[in-house]
Amino acid sequence: MNNKLSGWDETIVAIATAPGVGAIAVIRISGAKAFDIVNSLFPSKNLHSQPSHTLHVGFLKDDDQLIDEVVLALFKGPKSFTGEDTIEISCHGSPYIQQQILQACIAKGARLARAGEFTQKAFLNGKMDLTQAEAVADIIAANTAASQKAALHNIRGGFSNTLQILREQLIGFAALIELELDFAMEDVEFADRTQFYELIDTLQQAVAQLIQSFTLGNVIKNGVSIAIIGKPNAGKSTLLNVLLNEDRAIVSDIAGTTRDTIEEVMNIDGILFRLIDTAGIRDNATDVIENIGIEKSLDKMRTADLVLYIFDVHTETAATLAQQVALFEQEQLQYLLVGNKADAGQHPTFEFNNIQYIAAKNKEGIDELKKALFNATVQSNTNAENNIVTNARHLASLQLILSALHNIKQGLDAGLSGDLLSSDIRTALYYLGDITGEVSNEDKLDFIFSKFCIGK
Ligand code: GDP
Repeated sequence: MNNKLSGWDETIVAIATAPGVGAIAVIRISGAKAFDIVNSLFPSKNLHSQPSHTLHVGFLKDDDQLIDEVVLALFKGPKSFTGEDTIEISCHGSPYIQQQILQACIAKGARLARAGEFTQKAFLNGKMDLTQAEAVADIIAANTAASQKAALHNIRGGFSNTLQILREQLIGFAALIELELDFAMEDVEFADRTQFYELIDTLQQAVAQLIQSFTLGNVIKNGVSIAIIGKPNAGKSTLLNVLLNEDRAIVSDIAGTTRDTIEEVMNIDGILFRLIDTAGIRDNATDVIENIGIEKSLDKMRTADLVLYIFDVHTETAATLAQQVALFEQEQLQYLLVGNKADAGQHPTFEFNNIQYIAAKNKEGIDELKKALFNATVQSNTNAENNIVTNARHLASLQLILSALHNIKQGLDAGLSGDLLSSDIRTALYYLGDITGEVSNEDKLDFIFSKFCIGK
């Protein structure tokens, strides 16, 4: 790969474990000088003569100064995460010791790594493609089982493998189409148009599916935000407590969450549900709509992925419920109707689909409600084994691919000649390569095509 960045060949070092005191900490050093540097701090053995993938216990010494007793894990390039010579130093967890080791490595010629630089090196050294590199970032940020699963799937290359197969099929056809150009005078068609139609169809479906998975991917990565609203005494705070007592998720920091709204978070089947602006419910337990004004509460509802409207089945009238529903529909909000206090005697059945009846106080109907929340937001295509797009950059590229495929199809319908089709094909190929970070320039494509055309 020729697009090396500045400082790319330097040896980098960083503390790999979380900051603060721990039982042990790991310092990672990667680059051509990694073995030289650590060897000069590790007097008991010559590390250069040790095999790769071995562990070594001993003391780190900076000149005469003893630093710590450590365990070294040796990885010789290219069989390492970054693809370069790498050593992981496990030391005792005191921040002071960690700093001393870091400083000693820097004094011997390493430099402090930038954020994400180990993964960047792995990418630049061809150890992984871009989707995999991005998945590494996702997995570090994963805070539920489902997001971890999606990230792990991407790391293993699931997503890229699918794209790779699509891309190869398309290249195959592009080559045939281009071959036709060489025989333009003879009016021949090497690329079977029926088969080509079928391929474009398959591609369109696959790409559309990946695009659709973004909604789910986004849900898995960032969670679903829910606004609980309802009149005073409908049972909002009771419901909130019931939901949170059972499934409150412990989350330190959620990406993309603003700090100025208070959120409680729960975990349903591995998906994070963020109950937004719960402070309003907790503090005054009064009517959101009447107290903070219609505009403000509408704003709140618009920011949510789903509005949970809870009402008292004994006091709500069909007319007020219809009014409420009309508002949701008019605002194009996704909503769920929850009739509360279903325990306290007879109550009318309301004429709307999909009302969940619960008795929050007695925790009745809560499991069904959670199921309904899950279904309404995560929907049926939740097979986490499938490829899931979680990255906005990928989404943008996929949309461009889809539009190129659309053009190709139109071109086929209109009976366009090979040379006109091939430019749309190249566009689709370009953006497919863009996602996996492959070099998809003219030179490479020409190289591929030249191989295809051997023997003609
Ligand atoms: P909020 O104003 O919407 O937050 O409502 P609260 O959660 O404070 O509840 C209002 C009143 O309704 C309280 O006295 C609750 O005990 C009562 N309540 C809540 N849920 C139920 C329920 O399922 N059944 C019955 N009978 N009462 C409930």
